[in-house]
Amino acid sequence: MADLTTLGRAELEETLRALRERYQEYASKGLALDMTRGKPSSAQLDLSLALLELPGRSDYRTVDGVDCRNYGVMEGIPEARALFGQYLELAPEQVIVGGNSSLTLMHDAIVRALLHGVPDGDGAWSKQPATRFLCPSPGYDRHFAICEEFGIGMIAVDMNEHGPDMDQVERLAAGDPSIKGIWCVPRYSNPTGVTYSRDTVERLAGMRTAASDFRILWDNAYAVHHLTDDPEPLAHILRACEAAGHPNRALLFASTSKITLAGAGLAAMGASPENIEDAKRHLAKQIIGPDKVNQLRHVRMFRSLDDIRAHMRRHASLVRPKFDAVLEVFERELGGKNVAAWSRPKGGYFVSLDSMDGCAKEVVGLAADAGVKLTQAGATFPYGRDPRNRNIRIAPTFPDLEDIEIAMQVVAVCVQIAGVRKLLG
Ligand code: PLP
Repeated sequence: MADLTTLGRAELEETLRALRERYQEYASKGLALDMTRGKPSSAQLDLSLALLELPGRSDYRTVDGVDCRNYGVMEGIPEARALFGQYLELAPEQVIVGGNSSLTLMHDAIVRALLHGVPDGDGAWSKQPATRFLCPSPGYDRHFAICEEFGIGMIAVDMNEHGPDMDQVERLAAGDPSIKGIWCVPRYSNPTGVTYSRDTVERLAGMRTAASDFRILWDNAYAVHHLTDDPEPLAHILRACEAAGHPNRALLFASTSKITLAGAGLAAMGASPENIEDAKRHLAKQIIGPDKVNQLRHVRMFRSLDDIRAHMRRHASLVRPKFDAVLEVFERELGGKNVAAWSRPKGGYFVSLDSMDGCAKEVVGLAADAGVKLTQAGATFPYGRDPRNRNIRIAPTFPDLEDIEIAMQVVAVCVQIAGVRKLLG
C-alpha cells in the first residue's frame, strides 16, 4: 500500500476522488450500523441462560444456612465472597459482593470519600480546597463522568503500551496534595487494550504521593476477558501496595457484567481490611443486604475460578472472529498508508483507532452520514476533549460479523478521506 503522506498533490487529489466515489457508494446503501455499544451480543448472553433457572425453588440457603430470600448479609454471601476472592486473589474477608454494577461501587467509593474521607486521610475530600484525579487517556468515559458529576478536577495522563505514563503520574502525584487518586483499567484497558506492565504496577504502588490518602481505583473489568491462550501476566496491585508500605492505597473492582448477564450480574470490591471495614460502616446505612439469590445463582453456575475461565473461552470463541474482522479490514484498507494507527488487543472489548491528528471528529461525522454510528470523538478523554482529536473507540462485540465488516470498510474510507484532506491542507 502506498504511504499517502509521500504522495504529491495530483496523486492525493486523484486518491481523494476515488475515495469519495467509494464513500458515495456506501452512503447510498441506507446503512444503519451501530459500533458504539461495548456490550455483549445476544449469543454471548445465551451462554449464561442456565442462570435463569438457578438456584431453583428449593435451593435458597448459603453454606452457613442463611435464607437468601430474606434481608441481611450486607457484605455478600460467603461463597460469593470466596469466588470473587479467587477472582481478585484476595481473602474472602477482603471482598464485598454487591449488586450488578461495579460502576455503582466505584461511584459510591468516591461519594464516601467526598463526604466522609478515607482511612489515612484528613477528612472529607469535599471539604478540602480542591480534589483532583489523574485520568490515563484515552480511558473509560464513565470514570470521567463520575469525576465531572462531583466536580473532581481531571488531569489527563498519556497512556503508553505499558499503562499510564508513569513519569507524568509520579511527577503529578508527588507535587500536588489535591490529587487524590487515579483511575486504572489495568487489563485490556478501555479502549487501548493495554495490560499494565509489572514496572507500572510497582511504580503506582510505591510512588510518593503528596496526598496521604491517595487512592488507586483499580477497575479490573476485563480480568478474564482474554482473546488468546497466552494472556500477559498482571502484577497484583494490592500486594505491591502492601509491599511498598501503602496497604490502603488500592481499591479493586470487578464484575460479571461481561461474563454472565450485563444487566443481571454481580459486582465486587476488594481492598485492605481497613478500607473494607470503612466501606462496610457506611454501606450499613445504605443497604440491608444485596440480591443474595442472584449471588447464589452465580455460585451455583461457577463453582470456582476455573469454571469462569472455561466459560470465558466460550465467550472468546464468539468474540474473537469479530475482533479479527475489524483488524483484517483495517490492515487491508489502511495498512502502510500512514494515516491511522490502531490497537491489536489480546482481550477486552475495544479496538482503539487513531486517525491523523485533528481528524477524529470529521471521521465520526462522515461515518454517521453514511449510516455508521461510532462513539463520539473525544469521549475517551476527560471533559470529552481529545487534545489531538484523533482517537476513536470501536466496539465490535455486539453487532453481527457481516455488519462489522461493512461498518469497518466505511470507517476506513472515512479515515482516509479525512487524512487526505488534511494532507491537501
Ligand atoms: N469498567 C469498565 C472499564 C468498563 O468498560 C465497563 C463497561 O463497559 C464497566 C466498568 C461497567 O461495569 P459494570 O457493568 O460492572 O458497572
